[in-house]
Amino acid sequence: MHRMLRESPPLAMEDVAEAERLEALNCFDVIDTPREEAFDRITRLIRNIFDVPVAIVSMIDGHRQWYKSYEGLENREVSRDETFCKYTLQDMTPLVVPDARDDIRFAQNPMVTAGPQVRFYAGVPLRTNKGHNIGTVCAIGFEPRAFTPRETAILCDLAALAMDELELRQLASVDPLTGALSRRAFKERAANAIALAQRHEHGLACIAFDLDHFKSINDGHGHATGDKVLAAVAAACRGQLRGTDIFGRLGGEEFALVLPHTDRAQMGGVAEKVREAIERVAVRNGETPVPVTSSFGMAALDARTADIEALLANADAALYEAKAAGRNRCVAWRSPNDAPGSPRRRVLKAGRILFNNRMSSIDCTVRTLGGDGAGLDVTSSIGVPGTFNLQIRSDAFDSCCRIASQTERHIEVEFC
Ligand code: GH3
Ligand code: MG
Ligand code: MG
Repeated sequence: MHRMLRESPPLAMEDVAEAERLEALNCFDVIDTPREEAFDRITRLIRNIFDVPVAIVSMIDGHRQWYKSYEGLENREVSRDETFCKYTLQDMTPLVVPDARDDIRFAQNPMVTAGPQVRFYAGVPLRTNKGHNIGTVCAIGFEPRAFTPRETAILCDLAALAMDELELRQLASVDPLTGALSRRAFKERAANAIALAQRHEHGLACIAFDLDHFKSINDGHGHATGDKVLAAVAAACRGQLRGTDIFGRLGGEEFALVLPHTDRAQMGGVAEKVREAIERVAVRNGETPVPVTSSFGMAALDARTADIEALLANADAALYEAKAAGRNRCVAWRSPNDAPGSPRRRVLKAGRILFNNRMSSIDCTVRTLGGDGAGLDVTSSIGVPGTFNLQIRSDAFDSCCRIASQTERHIEVEFC
């Protein structure tokens, strides 16, 4: 079911190009994945070679610049509007800004006028072999400085190394920290299991879970303890599974299971068993115990939910419901009013939240989309009204939405 624009303007070239770019980014399955040494090495090299305080390897989605690796910064992402890198992204060539105060594009940028007081910027796009710029590699300084052609060439090589690494890491099938399958390997194995379940007409369930308030575990006990928790959680989960169950790490502290020979009636029992096992995980930071809980979303294979993308999208939506309902619980996906229309899919699209008579807008990234609703990532859900219009320009999509559930940075909506 497609909801059309009220006043259908022709699709702009830039919207089409942006949709293709986001599709390319989506194929790399990298957004919101953990830090990895391969990329941290590149940002360290940038800092050391060019003697700059800040270095970033980033991806740019619908509403933000997200850092796969960063040195010299506190936050892991920044709103897309404020970034220097959005200009680098549009370009095929490196962008060098010796002094941002002298550049009309950046002189008024809040990162220049206030906050970190950025002066120097050099950025190179991360370009796929099909020619899509999915992110950037950049060096940033707080003093003006020149950047020689030789230095530019070195930065280009470092960006090429980062891109090679992105291509390569997709081939890895096991996550070293947790022993779980990587996102790509998980999806491949899941697709096989789904094909078998369909052929032999047996049940299959998909469970997604995400650790609760994991950021505060990292903040309160350190990243190394966070890593220990992740490994212990994965071990606890595996302890509850059958040999044929498929277990993957989809992102930082986000995992998923595909359970063959498990139907809708049985999946809740498995999720509950895993949830309890995680609650019993006893990691210590010195003498201090580090309590850990997780929230679960579940979805079963059926005629409408017939592939891994649809299963994960539904399980995800249910997981966000579990988060919004107070966390540390399991929620099964239910289609709102059993609405007809296309099933949910995992996507990566640029969207806009329009409200206040379409006078106000907030950028978002659409992560799941179906005939009955959508899941949206935002920088902050504070200030988003209960009903609004969701616009996806590349799809000529515009629909009134009602918030079904929300967390700090995610909103689940039903179309009205
Ligand atoms: P919520 O209950 O809503 O899920 O809150 P949260 O704090 O768990 O959610 P959020 O997604 O904001 O934070 C996830 C954190 O996980 C942020 C990130 O730094 C951390 N993280 C991601 N990958 C790793 C990793 O490999 N090791 C460690 N220690 N932390 C990681
Ligand atoms: Mg979490
Ligand atoms: Mg998470």
